[in-house]
Amino acid sequence: MAVSQAIPITRHPFANGSYKQMLIDGKWVDAASGKRFETHNPATGELLATVAEGDKEDIDRAVAAARRAFEGPWSKVKPFERQNLLLKLADLVEKNFDELSQLDTLDMGAPLSRTRAYRLRAVGMLRYYAGQTTAIHGETIENSLPGEIFSYTLKEPVGVVGAIIPWNGPLTATIWKIGPAIATGCTVVLKPAEEAPLTSLRIAELAMEAGIPPGVVNVVPGYGETAGAALASHHDVDKVAFTGSHITGQSIIRASAGNLKRVSLELGGKSPDIVFADADLDAAVPGAAMAVFANSGQICSAGTRLFVEQAIYEEFVGRVAEFGKRLQVGNGLDPNVQIGPLVSEQQLERVTGYLDIGQKEGARALAGGGRVTEGALSKGFFVSPTVFAGVQDNMRIAQEEIFGPVISAIAFKDMDELVKRANNTTFGLGSGLWTRDVTKAHAVAKRLRAGSVWVNCYQAMDPAVPFGGYKMSGYGRESGKQHVEEYLNVKAVWIKTA
Ligand code: NAD
Repeated sequence: MAVSQAIPITRHPFANGSYKQMLIDGKWVDAASGKRFETHNPATGELLATVAEGDKEDIDRAVAAARRAFEGPWSKVKPFERQNLLLKLADLVEKNFDELSQLDTLDMGAPLSRTRAYRLRAVGMLRYYAGQTTAIHGETIENSLPGEIFSYTLKEPVGVVGAIIPWNGPLTATIWKIGPAIATGCTVVLKPAEEAPLTSLRIAELAMEAGIPPGVVNVVPGYGETAGAALASHHDVDKVAFTGSHITGQSIIRASAGNLKRVSLELGGKSPDIVFADADLDAAVPGAAMAVFANSGQICSAGTRLFVEQAIYEEFVGRVAEFGKRLQVGNGLDPNVQIGPLVSEQQLERVTGYLDIGQKEGARALAGGGRVTEGALSKGFFVSPTVFAGVQDNMRIAQEEIFGPVISAIAFKDMDELVKRANNTTFGLGSGLWTRDVTKAHAVAKRLRAGSVWVNCYQAMDPAVPFGGYKMSGYGRESGKQHVEEYLNVKAVWIKTA
């Protein structure tokens, strides 16, 4: 691992130590309680901003505003007008993209080399939703009843959406929640993660600038157990769109039971990434390494269980470890840095705890294995990219989501046994396989129980391709036309014509 000690000093127009209010009904307001919380840069510990701390009363105000907009002026806005609003927002996000990606870097640590690569996932996604807006329509259905009865369906917005997002990609997570809401004519109350609320607030400013009417997009920062829980249990919220851990996902389902609101869940994973001996290893080494090390492993679909065919196991895992050692770790504002800090001290403790567990379980750390404390990096929450070899399926590091830069490398021999082992997890989000044999690729892709299978690549994303989980990785899809359907109700209309 190479360490960058460069600490670029950047003044950010939004994260300048000032106080940020919340957006309710098109107005920037304080929390009803007057409370505020701080958000810090995880690379340096410096204070970025204080933020209004929303709670139940603020959620009530925001939901009431969202309801008024939904039933009032917003319901009259035509699809092509919503499309124009999304296109304007896309233009503004594009114009301010450098500032937004830097804000993500400052608030949650991902290096600029990563956040700047998100243009398609942010701007492209908004334009994709804009395209979907005028493509929403029902169907006419010929039915088999006696007499002349004609049926058709209407696609209607589900209503007020409560969106709750994590900290590991605030820019895209915000867009992936408010985009489909605007496209379908819903209104939204978004609660960003307490660790990284700034990008969502800046996007809310841009939404106002784009002319999105008051009450359609509301952003209430705050903690999960207060603001988040109030939103999930609110009786006037029609749907919760949640991204986060499976534990919180379970409490969201319980909280949603009061009014049986719709729920979509994008949760965690322990995804298998499989390397066959016939793979192009020069491509598979960086591919498998960055399938985990990107964003310091803080990606839901990271390919953390690296299954490698026995014949190439030692060589391949050794090469991945060497690759990990060469990665540049440091403050993400340095454009050469590839691996930034973890988001918080709590996350650092969690990940280093798993590093201890791995060693106690008997795995061998071929690279990394601990916190980075050199020079200025000691102020941040850095962990060196870690490769554990000799991992067995039943070890905790092979079963539990670590959410850090930790690869658990497991050997396999037989393909049938491999598929069973790859599927032997409570999760089912991502998966990858590396092979030159196209027949094998199709056969294994079909048998993996996961929402995405990447062949000879990993973590590819496109606005038009659905993403989501099987099993405890959740349900519902984001991206693709399925995403828009999550925000729609279908109504059947029957007309007797004779
Ligand atoms: P988390 O579940 O702790 O928090 C996510 C959000 O839920 C935050 O805004 C938090 O404040 C809120 N929250 C916490 N408790 C709540 C409660 N009781 N009621 C309502 N809201 C509550 O997750 P995290 O640590 O922020 O994020 C990491 C997790 O998110 C990982 O498990 C990761 O895999 C998952 N994730 C999944 C996807 C996906 O698309 N599938 C994407 C990113 C992250």
